[in-house]
Amino acid sequence: MTEAASELYALVRELYPICRSITGDGVRETLRILAQRLPLEIREIRSGTQVLDWTVPREWNIRDAYIADASGKRVVDFRQNNLHVMSYSTPVRTELTLAELKPHLYSLPEQPSLVPYRTSYYAEAWGFCLAHEQLQALAEGTYSVCIDATLEPGSLTYGELLLPGASTEEILISTHVCHPSLADDNLSGIAVSVALAREISQRKERRYSYRFLYAPGTIGAITWLAQNRATATRVKHGLTLTCLGDAHPFTYKRTVFGRAEVDRAAAHVLARTNARSQTEHRTIDFFPYGYDERQFNSPGFRLEVGSLMRGRHGQFPEYHTSADNLDFVSGERLEESLGVLREILNVLEDNRSYRNLAPYGEPQLGSRGLYRATGGTNIPNLQFAMLWVLNLSDGAHSLLDIAERASLDFSAIAAAAKLLAEHGLLETVASKS
Ligand code: ZN
Repeated sequence: MTEAASELYALVRELYPICRSITGDGVRETLRILAQRLPLEIREIRSGTQVLDWTVPREWNIRDAYIADASGKRVVDFRQNNLHVMSYSTPVRTELTLAELKPHLYSLPEQPSLVPYRTSYYAEAWGFCLAHEQLQALAEGTYSVCIDATLEPGSLTYGELLLPGASTEEILISTHVCHPSLADDNLSGIAVSVALAREISQRKERRYSYRFLYAPGTIGAITWLAQNRATATRVKHGLTLTCLGDAHPFTYKRTVFGRAEVDRAAAHVLARTNARSQTEHRTIDFFPYGYDERQFNSPGFRLEVGSLMRGRHGQFPEYHTSADNLDFVSGERLEESLGVLREILNVLEDNRSYRNLAPYGEPQLGSRGLYRATGGTNIPNLQFAMLWVLNLSDGAHSLLDIAERASLDFSAIAAAAKLLAEHGLLETVASKS
């Protein structure tokens, strides 16, 4: 495994045992760990605060929970797996017969060995999740039930990091941080986002400003939007990240109208990856479900935020179960995801339009040393890319337009443009925005 892959996986492993929810110490502890790697700003927004059409809920914290049989033996134990407690369960301490207990037990009859992940954020309830085979094996009798939790006024916690660039226009990378011990569905996105933020923070030049957001799903994104209502329009492009550590091909989910620059950048990168390595990465249309892209794309904001994932939520059997564990994700897959994400952002960062300053016929590349210049690189098709850039740089075509038209990697087109500009054959055209 490469060092990058093992670092990505190590962060997933470190965060895995923590019991996160939409509020509480699990999110704080998670952000504290991220803050060891990034200069993260951590925000606390008080319970009861009005955020757009929502209200920040009470804070939930849990210390222990179990179901014990008559002999006192714990048959379901939160300490063994935090998925055993329905997230946001109200506190309970009582004795119940099996028949009385059963309405509070959740299992997956179709996947009898797996523990499901369930939440009840906005309806007061308590419950336990367990393997169906374990549920069926429970003997008649009386059980003591304990959920040692608190649901009290406190705050909602989220973290953000802004890396300023030449422009105040932002690229937003957003990841939810509210799932407990599930590796792919949220820890993979967090790990990839942190690695990306570290990389981008080390760049000497950034065209865009970059904002990394780590917030609980739905209510966290809504809270962030409420806190940043006036300035959210600075977000020019964005991505939510989720399920990036599994072995499925990539899926990119487009922004609401599907015509944003990030949509084209992602489609180009995935299509080129498919052409290079016979993979089956795909792009799909927006739908108002899934992760926080639907908050950012809502009509009041219409921020052009797509979503990058491998496995699609709800469409793989491990999703929201105890099978989404540390074996389900790998460092190699996380590293590959980081690479695809980096490529998409490179397109956004470098995409611009140029004008050919020697547009009458083809300029003599040999006499300008440009043929020699291409010999010294290992960029495939660089010479061909130069001819495409010269031909289409009439001020009306961007480098991404040219890469699409030429069916060449954007990176080759961008390298060709850089070379031509250095040799006085291109000038940048002021962007429209
Ligand atoms: Zn989820």
